[in-house]
Amino acid sequence: MQRCSRCILPETYPDITFDTNGVCHKCHEYDLKYASRDYAKRGVELTCIAEWARRQGKRFDCIVPFSGGKDSSYTLYVCRKQLGLKVLAVNFNNGLRTPEALINIEHICQVTDSAFVCYGPSWQTMRKLYRAFFLATGQFCVPCDMGIWATVHRVAEQYDVPLIVSGFSAQIESRGPKIYSYNDRLFQTIASRILTKDEMRDFLSLSPARKIARRLKRGRVTRYRRQISLPEYMNWDDAEIKRVISQELGWTPRADGSSDHIDCCFAPMKGYFNVQKWGFGEKTTKYAAMTRHGEITRDEALTRAQRDESRNIDSAIADFKRRLDVTSEEMVAAKSRTHLEFL
Ligand SMILES: [Zn+2]
Repeated sequence: MQRCSRCILPETYPDITFDTNGVCHKCHEYDLKYASRDYAKRGVELTCIAEWARRQGKRFDCIVPFSGGKDSSYTLYVCRKQLGLKVLAVNFNNGLRTPEALINIEHICQVTDSAFVCYGPSWQTMRKLYRAFFLATGQFCVPCDMGIWATVHRVAEQYDVPLIVSGFSAQIESRGPKIYSYNDRLFQTIASRILTKDEMRDFLSLSPARKIARRLKRGRVTRYRRQISLPEYMNWDDAEIKRVISQELGWTPRADGSSDHIDCCFAPMKGYFNVQKWGFGEKTTKYAAMTRHGEITRDEALTRAQRDESRNIDSAIADFKRRLDVTSEEMVAAKSRTHLEFL
């Protein structure tokens, strides 16, 4: 199988193209967007944004969507310890948080002296959704992603918080629309079959018109709210992030040693379904991104991806089938389904 000669993306990556040197289009995209980025300048911009948030004089300067995972823990650290912002950490209970995520949430909110809000629909609601999305599209992550952002925006509105700072890294996590993307339409088409209108509200952000109506009702003037992704403003180095959160925050990794997706005990399943469908999983895209970024060598990326994506996850598969009431036949059928027709 052909792989990019610079990162490790395989020829099965949807819509991949290689130049005459065998370098893939994602590597060229990275060079255009990130390689020459001036992070000193970006750092100054970040300080200006923090200043702006403080000037609004609200109870909280910013919200950090907080899963207890590596990136969001580091984001909380930067916002509190480096930028000195008054932070409200917001967690979405997806019903699948690992014990380590809960430990980190509790401990890191204490260490960083951050306020904390958690919201989650009932497990029965989440379970129905995960099952329905898996059967219809072959993946189950959309309800959680929708729920996180709807919760964050609702809490921002409720506490009138001017800034949202997330630790989502497009450099690392970009998987392309054919593998993973979602929108309100996809969610509504599938969820409206099983949820009431009220239950749907937990997953959909308010429309701009409804936001304005709410603010007017409370006698508030419509004001600009900013949302930024921290990795766009600083060098997002995986090893350095792990060092800081372990030393400064006492961050706990997953029991299996993995530092990814601590907020989801079904994370190994996500990787498994991607490998089944595309021949590679998220570990490959992650290590490919780290190679581009110069954090690890190409050989190291290959070794790590092959090791991580060939782990035995039989017990995770059994747990997934049991908890979502999915049969072996349904597992096989889901492989040929895609979310694209719903977008
Ligand atoms: Zn490449």
